[in-house]
Amino acid sequence: MQCKNCDQTIQDDHSYCPHCGQKSDVTRLNFKQLMKDIWIAFSNTDEGFLLLVKELVYKPGKVARAYVSGRRKHYFNPFSYLAIMVAIALFFILRFESYGIDYSQMKTQDLEFLRFAFQYFNLFIFFMCPVYALVIWIFFLGNQLNYAENLVLSAYLGGQNMLYYIVAITIFIFIPSSINVLGLIIGLIITIWYIMAILQFYAKRSFWSIMKAILVIVIFQIASQGMIRFAYSVYRISVLN
Ligand SMILES: [Zn+2]
Repeated sequence: MQCKNCDQTIQDDHSYCPHCGQKSDVTRLNFKQLMKDIWIAFSNTDEGFLLLVKELVYKPGKVARAYVSGRRKHYFNPFSYLAIMVAIALFFILRFESYGIDYSQMKTQDLEFLRFAFQYFNLFIFFMCPVYALVIWIFFLGNQLNYAENLVLSAYLGGQNMLYYIVAITIFIFIPSSINVLGLIIGLIITIWYIMAILQFYAKRSFWSIMKAILVIVIFQIASQGMIRFAYSVYRISVLN
């Protein structure tokens, strides 16, 4: 048999050309095949995007660990995932801004801060991803996982967190009165999910590890609040001058 891409001879039992990597059973192009090729070119995975979304719900740390350990084609790239989910979340947030918020009861400075947070939402998420990875990495030093590998975990968690935001925002738009109670419940679930992810990623279950994971979340929360406030004050100074 001859490869249709590079014309080298290949054995009949090979499903891929050993010279160029093309599939040996390439047939005439049809619409279904074309769609599949576009999807693979775009996602660089064999499995779907939805598989990743689903698995990140109940085993986020294991997914990140599997990717780090070499399952690079099975799972959607973590950084593409983060970028796509942030783009989708931003779309929802801009909707929420026009429907869901009662601006009339807000103080001017709160309103300004909220506008700022919405406007720079995506930049902020991208900026916090490496910071979050850094906090986890420092707390779990000596566990044979380097900073780049922690960055994979952080990107997957950040991307998936966007999905939770979207779900929360959708509920808030339809039931505005639920914002306080539901906000608290969703916040709590996401926090537990983050702790679970860290423990899964490091394959730890001890009391001390759980305490460290909780501390990571607390520190990250304080750091991110501090950073967005700091960014806002810098922004205000630069706007006023
Ligand atoms: Zn070939």
